[in-house]
Amino acid sequence: MKRTRILEGTLSALLLGSVTLAQAPPSEVDAHIATAKAAAGLDYRGTFVNLCLPGGGAPGGGPRGAGGAVGGGRGTPAAVPAARGAAAAAPATPDRAGWYASPYKVFDNLYWLGTRQHSSWALRTSAGIILIDTNFAWATQPEIIDGLGKLGLNPSDLKYVIISHAHGDHDQGAAELQTKYGAKVVMGAADWDSTLQRPATAAGGVPKRDITVGPEGSKITLGDTTITIVHTPGHTPGTLSYVFPVKDAGRTVMVAYSGGTLTGAFGTDASRWDEYIASQKKIAKAAADAGASVILSNHSEYDNAYTKARLAGLKREVGEDNPFIVGADSVQRYFTVMTECALASKLRAGAR
Ligand SMILES: [Zn+2]
Repeated sequence: MKRTRILEGTLSALLLGSVTLAQAPPSEVDAHIATAKAAAGLDYRGTFVNLCLPGGGAPGGGPRGAGGAVGGGRGTPAAVPAARGAAAAAPATPDRAGWYASPYKVFDNLYWLGTRQHSSWALRTSAGIILIDTNFAWATQPEIIDGLGKLGLNPSDLKYVIISHAHGDHDQGAAELQTKYGAKVVMGAADWDSTLQRPATAAGGVPKRDITVGPEGSKITLGDTTITIVHTPGHTPGTLSYVFPVKDAGRTVMVAYSGGTLTGAFGTDASRWDEYIASQKKIAKAAADAGASVILSNHSEYDNAYTKARLAGLKREVGEDNPFIVGADSVQRYFTVMTECALASKLRAGAR
């Protein structure tokens, strides 16, 4: 509407013999960024900055690709960027003072086992534990195995380890948990293919192929709990996102889990942008259909997991909700940020 009015104004100016353009129409890029910024509000600033602003605030200002220096800013331990590549050699453990976080129970049956930068989640069911994402290899023992113990859970009850995508900051714990506890590792087909090409010396080792999820998605049921796995290629070709129920003081609450976020390496390949954008719409719809009122991620900078995890167990005031429950509208706004920033970045990259 606004653009039409401006165009009409321009036409009448031309008809009147004046060629002065009082105001250029807002570019399509700016329109997508404005939509994303409004959707982000104060809740999803990290997502907005990383996805919508060129360089995402990363040192050097270049695109922040899957294999690039992701996690460079905002308090990430210095050793993390170098360790990120899927097949990176075993990194030295960074200074614990820069990443260690205690584990927290955040819902009746959901536990946060993250570092201050990356999240791993344990979903307790009536027949064992489903672990959602791991972390760098050096975090497996202190955060996941010891974390479960500190929360009164037994790592031997791990039945599934579901990996959202095959990048080292989320999957380097899979092989150890598979070997030690017999947990079945679940991954997207394309990400299994890249994982199985890693050398045996890769950080954390290489898991054996257990369960492969294809484009049709999947459901995994353990005891009383079912996770709906949605195939959301984009961040990696086999990225998985999820919808699942948790309990909050006995009440069922639906969670949407965003499996992969950054778009930096797509360049001028329009098909990769389009695939990513289609995936955001797909998981947004699955979240809406399920009535998801919680949005979780595997990076604290996107869902503020570290901050919220520490708040979750505190006394709540009358009318105050679990800090992870943001409402269905807010969950949709998160995916709007993802989609609109990708649309803006695609245009900016010149992908056609
Ligand atoms: Zn990644």
